[in-house]
Amino acid sequence: MGGAEAQSERVYLDWNATAPLWPAARDAAVAALAAGGNPSSVHAEGRSARATVEKARRALAEIFGVPADGVTFTSGGTEANMTALSPGVRRPGTEPAERLIVSAVEHAAVRAGGRFSPADITIVGVSADGLIDCDALAHALGEDERPALVSVMAANNETGAVQPLRDVLALCEEHRATLHTDAVQAFGRIAHGDLCAHLISISAHKIGGPLGAGALIRRAGVVVPPLITGGGQERGVRGGTENVAAIAGFAAALGAPAADPSAWQHTRSARDNFEADLFNVVPDARIFSQDAPRLPNTSLISVGSIPAEISLIGLDMEGIAVSSGAACSSGSVASSHVLAAMGVMDDVAGAALRVSVGPEGADVAFERFLRAISKVIVPMKERSISRTGPTYGL
Ligand code: PLP
Repeated sequence: MGGAEAQSERVYLDWNATAPLWPAARDAAVAALAAGGNPSSVHAEGRSARATVEKARRALAEIFGVPADGVTFTSGGTEANMTALSPGVRRPGTEPAERLIVSAVEHAAVRAGGRFSPADITIVGVSADGLIDCDALAHALGEDERPALVSVMAANNETGAVQPLRDVLALCEEHRATLHTDAVQAFGRIAHGDLCAHLISISAHKIGGPLGAGALIRRAGVVVPPLITGGGQERGVRGGTENVAAIAGFAAALGAPAADPSAWQHTRSARDNFEADLFNVVPDARIFSQDAPRLPNTSLISVGSIPAEISLIGLDMEGIAVSSGAACSSGSVASSHVLAAMGVMDDVAGAALRVSVGPEGADVAFERFLRAISKVIVPMKERSISRTGPTYGL
């Protein structure tokens, strides 16, 4: 393929938003849709749908080393989080949780606190690198006698920072608290064994599965009051007919490179090379959480104070799909609570761009991105510096 043609191909650098659908996952989902059947029905069609769901459940149970009934399928990571964050949650040998402790950098789905009332939620701060302050967590655990549920994400969706879950778990054990982790971004990208919590949320579409499927993983004996009651599906933990096609696709995606923590080594070095090269193009660039343990595929950068929504449009026109650092919903860019918690000034945070790649082709993708920065962002930055007032040249 010629250079000009290759240049016109789009480059998808937004895997943390959603990973491209893995072909085997699409095939499995289509086959399950075509087969039909309600997994609660006793006839052959129903039993076949049930077999699809149970096979997927066993596959996840094996990965996490939990009994099969410790896997509850949900509509995604958000619902898994909402289900986990409930008063009454407990692990064996502890009292039902009456309060919730979360880190300041959690995804909105956790920061909202699930079914806890705002008065029962404590937010624990993070370092400038975005890692939870374990002393503050110990203090929060010790200052109130009431049993606690702690929710700390395995890896952050904006910065990629990987939290010290083992230390967090040790504190929870010491204080007889239950630990939930939102592993939506970490699952498949760090060793499964590092997702050490009593409750774990995962989502299919971050590993190449279909949108609309996720799971809450419960270690043996962990009790969670159902969020959705109804027909008693999912062993009474989640009512509603299972999304068989999406669950079939989820199971097939477990075989994708994106779900294999050992498949990302090269991505990590491609990301690190990109970050080193970035300083040649933009000497005053900033890379957030650079000194923290990070996911291999994520880089959150700031290359000046051009508002991210303007940079995103310029990059999109160059064929590059990236995200702003800030949470993006309904097409609007809100300020990032993650960067605010890390002490980053609003104007810098508002310019942050999140680049997230897949396990294959990262070198080429980062190279295209770097070229687009030179072509699109650097001139905007120069124009904005040469003008007076907050005009950004677009
Ligand atoms: N938690 C984290 C860390 C995420 O990044 C996301 C999605 O971006 C979610 C939860 C929500 O997952 P889902 O889209 O499956 O509801």
